[in-house]
Amino acid sequence: MFDTLSLASLPPADEAIRPAIRALAATAASAADTDERARSWQGYDPAFSRRLGEAGFLGLTLPKRYGGHERGPFARFVVVEELLGLGAPVAAHWIADRQSAPLILNFGNEAQRQSYLPRIARGEIFFCIGMSEPGSGSDLASVRTRADRTETGWRVNGQKIWTSGAPHCDYMIALLRTSGGPDDRHAGLSQLIIDLKVPGVTIRPIRDLAGDEHFAEVFFEDVDLPADALIGEEGEGWKQVTAELAFERSGPERIYSSVVLLDAWIAHLRGVGRDDAATRALVGDATARLGVLRAMSIACTARLAAGESPVTEASLVKDLGTAFEQQLPVLIGDDLASHPDEAVAADLYRALLYVTHVAPSFSLRGGTREILRGIIARGMGLR
Ligand SMILES: Cc1cc2nc3c(=O)[nH]c(=O)nc-3n(C[C@H](O)[C@H](O)[C@H](O)COP(=O)(O)OP(=O)(O)OC[C@H]3O[C@@H](n4cnc5c(N)ncnc54)[C@H](O)[C@@H]3O)c2cc1C
Repeated sequence: MFDTLSLASLPPADEAIRPAIRALAATAASAADTDERARSWQGYDPAFSRRLGEAGFLGLTLPKRYGGHERGPFARFVVVEELLGLGAPVAAHWIADRQSAPLILNFGNEAQRQSYLPRIARGEIFFCIGMSEPGSGSDLASVRTRADRTETGWRVNGQKIWTSGAPHCDYMIALLRTSGGPDDRHAGLSQLIIDLKVPGVTIRPIRDLAGDEHFAEVFFEDVDLPADALIGEEGEGWKQVTAELAFERSGPERIYSSVVLLDAWIAHLRGVGRDDAATRALVGDATARLGVLRAMSIACTARLAAGESPVTEASLVKDLGTAFEQQLPVLIGDDLASHPDEAVAADLYRALLYVTHVAPSFSLRGGTREILRGIIARGMGLR
């Protein structure tokens, strides 16, 4: 049920890790152009992810016995904020750290936890999410890709699409039909860990509007998996995937996709010495909105830290956050266009072009705006 978000602040012990993660993020970001840093989500740099692991910045929410650091969601908030704020490359470890690890911790058996979690916390193995299929996006319960039992385990046939990171990931956690048909909806779905290097898996990258190939189609043709590929209970996939989506939506990621562009624009304004009242009002409006979203995101993090699952509140922050992220390139593009006399650095223009191209996807990935609003309406008791 929807409840008022109480303002919270980052605990001093978690805030204290900021200088160290900022310094490490700067090692990866400082030499990069603005448009490269604006691609933070898509930046694939496994060596940097391993450095994060060595420095103790991955697996922050995991227990120490699985290689984690038992720091909790506030510490992760600080780390994510610094990585995205500076535009460091996060793609390699992003999904494993954010949602595969908590999923394995919650639903995996002891052997799976011992096998995967320490390697995720060290930044050694990377995961992708196999939910969407052609014809099954928002209507996720209609997935058709099947895993059938064999004498030794499972055989998978079907196709996933829009799988972020698939071309360079080690494993996919896939939502598959293990019994019944699409009409059975939530019943008969299970989650399996698929080693993407096994025979029968074909990964075909998809190029996006900006020319990048960060997601892919993934085809499964008689892919044989061992029995221990099943994660959690057979037939409980829907319940598990709902919990996984709550991890995906409740972090601070959903307000910072355009923040490198915002920073670069403010640096440009400083550089050209533009500080008239209209410009200050524009910058003030954008930064004030970001401040409010950040406060809401920290309040959601406080709910996570208290062991709650703030599904409705996180959907609200994601909806408002992605709207803000999408407004920024429009606002900045209009502003630069209305000052044609100013010299604008080429990489600021390239970053603006890039964010303008990809902004529509901000309110698609992780659940579309309309689906989130349905969740919010339900949480408020309106449907
Ligand atoms: C950058 C990016 C990365 C992605 N990464 C992954 C990934 O790693 N793994 C993965 O599994 N998927 C991934 N996706 C896929 C994403 O989850 C889906 O695109 C999303 O769930 C929407 O599904 P769809 O594209 O099939 O659109 P559809 O579900 O066909 O929706 C089309 C439109 O109809 C609206 N709509 C649909 N149903 C309703 C309804 N009931 N009420 C009101 N409106 C409705 C939607 O809001 C949308 O506007 C990614 C997508 C993007 C853009």
